[in-house]
Amino acid sequence: MYKLCSLFSSSSGNSTFIGNEHEGVLVDVGKNCKNLEISLKTAGLEASAVKAIFVTHEHSDHICGLRVFANRYNIPVYASERTLEYLDVAGHLNGDFPVYSISDYADVGDFHIETFKTSHDVVDSHCYSVILPNLDKFSVVTDTGVITDETLDGILGSKAILLESNHDINMLNNGPYPYTLKRRILGPYGHLSNDTAAETTVKLLNSGTEHILLGHLSDHNNVPELAYQTTVSRLFMEGAILGQDYTLEVAKKNDPTVFEV
Ligand SMILES: [Zn+2]
Ligand SMILES: [Zn+2]
Repeated sequence: MYKLCSLFSSSSGNSTFIGNEHEGVLVDVGKNCKNLEISLKTAGLEASAVKAIFVTHEHSDHICGLRVFANRYNIPVYASERTLEYLDVAGHLNGDFPVYSISDYADVGDFHIETFKTSHDVVDSHCYSVILPNLDKFSVVTDTGVITDETLDGILGSKAILLESNHDINMLNNGPYPYTLKRRILGPYGHLSNDTAAETTVKLLNSGTEHILLGHLSDHNNVPELAYQTTVSRLFMEGAILGQDYTLEVAKKNDPTVFEV
């Protein structure tokens, strides 16, 4: 049994563990070390189970606890070359932990991790798929304005996925954000809407995906029920029945949400 475990997920902090009680990898450390330690413990995981950290991009909701956590437990950090350069200059890699650049894939123990470019307004942004020792694939895709062909190719066939469902377009358009920020979020380098996430789940289900965890919800422009219903409705139009053809959850903002497959 392997877990896809969102430790916390929202615009104010993201971290996802993939693996089991003995070993696994973490995608992002978007809250401080203490918060991460608490979430791991709540999920029944020890920090020693984290064999590597993969960073999607340099926004603080993905890296703010990276340096302290990696240093405290001497965990290797992987990111793209350009992301590492940025993190280094900003002081986020100061410490004794090993750092590796990843361009296509990396192997950590019996885990094979593949990386794909996403579309986001940073120096370089990526998502990750983890091929587990039993050959199941679990993926984490957040912080992307669109699902590019490269991203889609990479994540198709995932048995379980954490997929961004950031905002409801109407809530965003009618909400409090300034116009320029609305344009940024809605643009090709922003965040994935509920509608685009739902559309993506259709392709995922057709490729064999069974477990969908919606995450990185906006604090201001979304509510969990809306994200959930948008995907359920879209998949229902395709004839897919919740609980029969797939499972669906919305990742909790501050607590772990676990799929055990
Ligand atoms: Zn971001
Ligand atoms: Zn983010």
